Order: sequence, then C-alpha cells, then structure tokens
Amino acid sequence: MFDVYKLREEFPILKRKINGKNLIYFDNAASTQKPRRVIEKIKEVYENFYANVHRGIHTLSQEASEEYENAHKIVADFINADFEEVIFTRNTTESINLVAYSYALNNLKKDDEILISVMEHHSNLVPWQFVSKKVGCKLKYVGLNENFEVDLEDLKEKISPKTKIVSITHISNVLGSINDIKEIIKIAHENEAIVIIDAAQSAPHLKLDVKKLDVDFLAFSSHKMLGPTGIGVLYGKKEILEEMEPFIFGGDMISDVDFYSAIWNKLPWKFEAGTPNIADAIGFAEAIKFLEELKMENVEKYLNELTKYFLEKFRELKSFRIVGKLDEKNRAPIFSFVHENLKAHEVAKILDLEGIMIRSGFHCAHPLMRYLNLYDVGGTARASLYIYNTKEEIDYFVEVLKKLENK
Ligand code: PMP
Repeated sequence: MFDVYKLREEFPILKRKINGKNLIYFDNAASTQKPRRVIEKIKEVYENFYANVHRGIHTLSQEASEEYENAHKIVADFINADFEEVIFTRNTTESINLVAYSYALNNLKKDDEILISVMEHHSNLVPWQFVSKKVGCKLKYVGLNENFEVDLEDLKEKISPKTKIVSITHISNVLGSINDIKEIIKIAHENEAIVIIDAAQSAPHLKLDVKKLDVDFLAFSSHKMLGPTGIGVLYGKKEILEEMEPFIFGGDMISDVDFYSAIWNKLPWKFEAGTPNIADAIGFAEAIKFLEELKMENVEKYLNELTKYFLEKFRELKSFRIVGKLDEKNRAPIFSFVHENLKAHEVAKILDLEGIMIRSGFHCAHPLMRYLNLYDVGGTARASLYIYNTKEEIDYFVEVLKKLENK
C-alpha cells in the first residue's frame, strides 16, 4: 500500500489555500488533479521532441510519433487490449459518440432497440436519443434495484432479440454504485446485443481487463485519472472496428486518396483523423505509468478504505442523507447527499468558504435526478474522493457539515 502523505507531495496544487484554508479537493468525479510528473512530461514534449506525428521523415517527427504510438501501447496494456483496439478521442463523450455515429447509425434499423439505464450520464444517454430518433428505433431504460445498482432482473425483462445495443455505466457518477458489468455483458451477449461500457468513473478506480470482461466497447477519459484534459479512449474489439466506417474524415485516417475515393488507414488510425492531441496523449501515458506504479489493486483498496470511513463518519450527521448505497461493498467514494432544508448549491457554497471543493446540482444526469425525485429540489451535493484524499480531510468535512445541522 502507498503512503498517502508522501503521495500528496507529488501534487503541487494540494499545497494551495482557498479562502485562507487548506484546499480539500472533493470533486474528483468531475476531474482529478495532476501529479508533477504528468505536468513535467507535457512540458518536456514541447521543449524536447514536439513535431507533428505520422507525417515527417525528420527526426523530431519520428520521435514524437514513437512517443505518441507508445502512449497507445501503454493504454492498451493498462486495460489488456491489443494496440489496434485503442483509439484516442477527446474524452468519454466523444468515444461514445464515435460508436453512436459509426456503429449505431449504420447498423441499427427501425424496430431495433437500444437499452441503457436510468443512471446514465448525459454523454451515454443523449447520443442514444439521437440515434433512436434518426433511425426510428426504440430507446429503453433499465431501472435501479434497492442497492442503487442497475437492476439485473429488470434488464433481463427488457432485453429481447430486438435489442442491438446495451450501453451502461460501470460506476455511477452520482450514486457511486459499481454495477455488475460482467453479468450485464453476459446477458447482453446471450441476446446477441453489443455492449458499450462507460468506464469514465471506473478506469480511475478499478483494474479493468477488456478480454476478461469480453466487452465490445469501453470508453474513458484521461482527466479523471490524473491525466490532462482533451484526451480520452475508445476501446473496441478489433473485428467490430474493422467493419465500422470512420467517424471523422481527413488526414491520417487514410492510406490512399484518389479524386473520388479513399482507402482507410489501418487500426487505430482509421479513427484518428487530423492532427491528434500529441502532448496530452503522452501526458496521459505518464499518468497511467504513475497509477501502475501505485498498482490498481492498491488504488482500489485505498479508495475502499476511504469509502468505508466516509460512510461511518457521515452517520454522525442527522440533517443530511446520502442518496445511494450506505455500505462500502460494490461502492466507490462518490457520495451524493442532501440536507433536509438547505439546497445543494447552498451547502457547496458554505463548504467552499472552508476550502472544500464539492460539486452540486444535477451532475449531468437529469433523468436520474427525475427518477429519484431530486430534480425539483435542485439535485444533490456531491463529494467524490480520490487517492490523495485523507481520513483527516473527511473528518474536517464532517465537522463543517455539523455546523449546518438543524438549519
Ligand atoms: N460518464 C460518466 C459516468 C461520467 O462521470 C462522465 C464525466 N462526469 C462522463 C461520462 C463524461 O466524461 P467527459 O466529460 O470526460 O467526456
């Protein structure tokens, strides 16, 4: 296990004071902070080996291309994928849109069905609304069980031979629940549907193995796992990607172009048109190396410890209620909570004055807020923790909330 206090030294921003108080950063589900190593790596790219990739015969372009390709390899190894199966996008949102445009629009027909859950982030929901309207197919929703997880019984009831796509989040960015994606994938495949897993919150938390999961597509973002913004991943099974049309057309995604036709480049470049985000991709690979040195098993163990501690401490509060599971099993340290009288934004503002950064509102999940009857009250406050957070920070957070009891 790593020493959290030593680890914190690696994150320059954690030394900041906000409103005269030590920064407590509890907004990790929105985005994580960056270790010095990642910041330095991006600087190094621009200072030492920056040039466009896959274009020049010159040394700098060769070096940049090698580092950029190596970043794909590092990400592929991280999730146990093959090199050709890892496409760099801007973020999870773009990854899911890639599947919606290139796979779904070309393969789904009227009367087909798409199955998602009520806990989806807008980025795994609005693209499917678009596809269903465009194609004339049906969008169906699976509900939640009493543990705030995707209800497998409801999934079994709603899935049918008409279902062509099942697209579900691994970890809810609102509730912190970890869904049983192994079982979801199995049920979907028994019904010959393809599965997309939104791993935006799980790639930072858990060891993922796409081969063991047998997942068809998996999407995640660098910025939620210590890496820079502007870079994300779409994993896709080679045989499916080979059959798909490109998403964006232009330079680098072709191997030859004639006046009226073009031949697509090999994977993964077929899906990476135009000059990519070279420096941030290399910075992302550095973030993954950092996580791998800590070991994902340790990351998971530590986050589970924080989850357990947070839930215990939170029980001391009477005017607040957690929306989500109250035990640490199958749970990530993402906690939505409400006060009996105060609005979520008011709670967030008060915490901000104490140097504590949390998110408040609907968390890009309006349908879930409606499902939970939390839309009209303005949503929830959300504290989300990551590897550099400590039990002392949780203590202070709960102390501040205690001042709001009976308000
Ligand atoms: N899915 C989930 C579960 C998320 O938490 C988020 C980010 N909040 C996204 C998708 C979208 O990620 P991005 O904004 O990086 O595209």
